[in-house]
Amino acid sequence: MNIHETIVKATKILEENNIKTPYLDSELLLSKIIKKDRKYIILNSKKKLDEYYLRNFNKLIERRKRGEPIAYLINFKEFWKQKYFIDKNALIPRPDTEILVEETLRLYEKEKKLNILDIGTGSGCLLLSILKERKNFMGTGVDISKKALNVARFNAKLQHLGNRVKFYNSDIDKFFIGKYDLILSNPPYIKNFNIKYLEKDVACFEPKVALDGGSDGFSKITKVIVKTSNLIKKNGKFILEIGCHQRNEAVNKLKNNNFYINKIIKDYGKKDRCIISTKI
Ligand code: GLN
Repeated sequence: MNIHETIVKATKILEENNIKTPYLDSELLLSKIIKKDRKYIILNSKKKLDEYYLRNFNKLIERRKRGEPIAYLINFKEFWKQKYFIDKNALIPRPDTEILVEETLRLYEKEKKLNILDIGTGSGCLLLSILKERKNFMGTGVDISKKALNVARFNAKLQHLGNRVKFYNSDIDKFFIGKYDLILSNPPYIKNFNIKYLEKDVACFEPKVALDGGSDGFSKITKVIVKTSNLIKKNGKFILEIGCHQRNEAVNKLKNNNFYINKIIKDYGKKDRCIISTKI
């Protein structure tokens, strides 16, 4: 079979299994297998594929068919300006989380020197994207998942940021190192009961520890706010991602922990997604 025929056949399989972008996914998976970019695939559609490639490609299509996210199959996801290595141990970076990067960069000029902490760093995408843009920032990432931290460490290496970042494997409750000018967090904030209703890609394949916000969806946010209040310097900024119906609860919790609310930002779907506050 040639490239074009292979992609058409795979697209049909994915379509029949309700995968939303079957053609694109097939192209991406074939690029991964033959180690060429999409441009090559489009320009060489008549080229015959080796049996070996076909077999491996079909294996990936089978996995995609069952809902496994494309990022886990091709082992990367673009976030902000970089490609991040991703595997099943880390939450896949979301475009909405780029809002936290954008807002952070808006707050500090290029040469500023800061000590920053990312609570629940996962793949490290948030922390590393910011470090990449601000040469004088020093970063610390904490995560309860050892396996997620290995993903973050690998990404730090890939981006040559190893000398400006430290990672700690710890529950944030048990973390007492340092005082920070800026703290960021995208904690798990989905109600435990609702996880099964999320898209299959998310519900069946992404790490529960990165999604599960307890029975009310808010317990991890509470924990992060209380802890941040101790780890942050006076006048330090706190940039927090929240679930779309958690705005009022989060604002109250922040105020009770001596944070002044600067700004609440909506995501691309016009839902409240990010709160910027200052420790007073
Ligand atoms: N935004 C993610 C989702 O909707 C959830 C991430 C999180 O819990 N922090 O799948």
